[in-house]
Amino acid sequence: MSLTIRLGLAALLPVAILVAVVFHHARLLDGMVEEHRRLAEVDVASREASLELRADLARLDELVAKATALDDPAYAREAARLERSIGERITALEALETDPPERRAIAAVADAWRARSRRGETGTTERALDELLEVAGEVVRDRVAAGMRRADRAHAISRAAAVGGTAFAIGLSALLGWSVLRPVRRMGRATRDLAEGDFDRRVAPVGPSEMVALAEDFNTMAERLGELDQLKEDLLSNVSHELKAPLASMRETVRLVLDEIPGPVNERQERMLSLTLESGERLSVLIENLLDLSRLHAGAMAFDFESRDVGDLVRRVLESYEVSIAEREIAVETRVPDRELRIVCDPARVTQIVDNLVSNAVKFTPPGGTIHVRLAGDGGGGAVLEVEDDGPGIPDDRKPRIFERFYRADPSRKGDQGTGLGLAIAREVARAHDGSLEVRDAPGGGSVFVLHLPDGTEPSAVT
Ligand code: ADP
Repeated sequence: MSLTIRLGLAALLPVAILVAVVFHHARLLDGMVEEHRRLAEVDVASREASLELRADLARLDELVAKATALDDPAYAREAARLERSIGERITALEALETDPPERRAIAAVADAWRARSRRGETGTTERALDELLEVAGEVVRDRVAAGMRRADRAHAISRAAAVGGTAFAIGLSALLGWSVLRPVRRMGRATRDLAEGDFDRRVAPVGPSEMVALAEDFNTMAERLGELDQLKEDLLSNVSHELKAPLASMRETVRLVLDEIPGPVNERQERMLSLTLESGERLSVLIENLLDLSRLHAGAMAFDFESRDVGDLVRRVLESYEVSIAEREIAVETRVPDRELRIVCDPARVTQIVDNLVSNAVKFTPPGGTIHVRLAGDGGGGAVLEVEDDGPGIPDDRKPRIFERFYRADPSRKGDQGTGLGLAIAREVARAHDGSLEVRDAPGGGSVFVLHLPDGTEPSAVT
């Protein structure tokens, strides 16, 4: 069922239920009005007519008696007029659309009246009228009772329709809303994953037709993005590879010239050649880093795993920074356990991570600041290293981004020769050790990088 139909149903079905309930009530009301009309115009009217006829008959008997006793033609005329009027009203009674028992009682009244007119039988019409009064009274009582029952039933139906209809409408709207929201949420999750770089993410093309079309378009887009990413990956890796050999030979040549093997160089030439060699070294580090990342992504990085004391690796890295730390007048507080903290790891790669963290801490800590380096066991045979600096810290929205390759928060920083690859490689290497690398705010305002390395035995491929 398409989204349009679902949304249309969610809006229209409750309205349709409401209309049905209102229609039902209108019909009930019509029926009750008709009942009351019958009650007023037929049943009550026939009962009133019987009462009046009863009184008129008594008056007729009286007039006839007076006309006979006094031989007064005025009484006789009055009696004849009343007799005609009684006859007309009985005919009118017969014309009423009454129920069968009442109709029979009216017919009995009419028969008795005609018998009286023909044969002068008196008394029977009165009895028939009494009978009619009785029957009409019963009919009125029955009709009122039936009306009450109908009203009670209408009340019960209204209540059930109001409660049931509302519950049904709410249930249906919730169900339809959920059936619309579910695929949208699924799509949202997939889009987030894709935005985070998971190009293998696909969405099952199920649900409303519009969502099926959207899922198919999403899958095509994810596939194309994946192909583009792979293309970029291949290009970077191929270009880096191709640049590596000529760059090495250029550096070698410059080194030979600097060593004055082909002939003497003057001071100015030496300075220029040294600068060229420095640039070549930086380029060579960048190329090595790019190749490392490509290998890590392809799961093709070769690791030399062995059991090593992480404390020893950390101390060596810190020693290598002694000069630059002293130059910048930075204090380093180290808390590394005296006992060995051995884990199975690739020491060169772990050194690379620690080096990156310490070099960033030194770079971002202002002169006079302090760097804290803490190493401890993780309680399960692994190690946790924290490198805390006194620097400017990293805003929350940038924290995930600093682990992306080529991301540099502030490329214009004076003297910052970084490439934005160090942390990307460090996190991938940590993951290849089944470990993790995270960053959080330091209490003093700087950053704390937390490296966790479990006591691994096997490297795991990074994708
Ligand atoms: P780079 O080689 O450019 O330093 P990294 O991958 O090591 O690249 O770091 C990426 C970015 O993360 C840096 O450009 C910097 O903006 C930010 N960053 C890294 N470490 C710190 C730190 N200790 N304090 C503040 N920002 C940092």
